Amino acid sequence: MARVDPHLIFACEVILDVDGPLLRSMRTVQHSYIRRRLGLNKRSSTAVLFTETRLWPIRYRRVYLALQYLAYILRESPELALLALHELVALCAEGKSSLMGDLNHSLRRLPVPVIMEEETALTVPNVQILLNLVEKSMWEHLEEQVESSPKFVLLHGRLEYIQKQRSMEHRTLAFRDYLQVVVPDHRKALARLVCSDHPLAIEQLRRTAARNHIPRMSRTCRFCRIPGTVESEQHALIDCSNDELVSLCESFMTKAIQAVPAIARQRRELSSISFLRALLSWTRVTELLGKYTHRIFRLCTLTPLLIHNDFVIDGEGND
Ligand SMILES: [Zn+2]
Repeated sequence: MARVDPHLIFACEVILDVDGPLLRSMRTVQHSYIRRRLGLNKRSSTAVLFTETRLWPIRYRRVYLALQYLAYILRESPELALLALHELVALCAEGKSSLMGDLNHSLRRLPVPVIMEEETALTVPNVQILLNLVEKSMWEHLEEQVESSPKFVLLHGRLEYIQKQRSMEHRTLAFRDYLQVVVPDHRKALARLVCSDHPLAIEQLRRTAARNHIPRMSRTCRFCRIPGTVESEQHALIDCSNDELVSLCESFMTKAIQAVPAIARQRRELSSISFLRALLSWTRVTELLGKYTHRIFRLCTLTPLLIHNDFVIDGEGND
């Protein structure tokens, strides 16, 4: 990432993003390299690329750096840069195009717009307020993307144990513990599970073209083949009655409970989906969960999807 990021933010302090196609190409590059690091395919959602890695969408990152540079000029008063800033403010006041207008435009074009009022005085505290608003805008945008999507069932209301505070907390952006799993295949399996970019029927059959839409209840589990049993994340990893999956699950649970005894109580008391979320929050079982998830996904590649005769798959769609 360190090899790509400098190119994406080069000169962003003085070249603001007013050209949509240029920004789009930078976004494409950023999405590609994060997907590659996480092991996700090009159809995966973009919001999770940032919520899982703590990286900022390039549009936000560039305008934030530009504002930080503006705060630096106001605070440190470097002679030439300050003179240039005064010129820009004068041009803007005369209604002519200038970098200040571009900055205003960039802020208004954010997914959750940030408004810089014309009468706002250019002072360090006021720029700091804008910096806070940009950060808040990004959190709100990503939070809304994740919480409103049925794909991210494992991320809804996610809580993680924060060692420093000794408490469970919700974090919109963070470098997640599972990204530190040592074995690449196991780490990528967890990323695919959490980011809904996995081979389970609930996701794969969601991607059929609109004209071939397969209702959720018809995305039947290919392993137990029980009508009406949706091959969801929690079903495949926790509930499936297929002998091979039951055996894998029991083996995983035995090791997980040895590592964290509280998991046995959680299994009894929580619904399957809540239990799966709880498993993801236990750092001590992350390696085990990665290995287990990888095995389930590998079985998926060996067993064809179960598609009812009522549905014919002849293409792929966007949802
Ligand atoms: Zn099943």
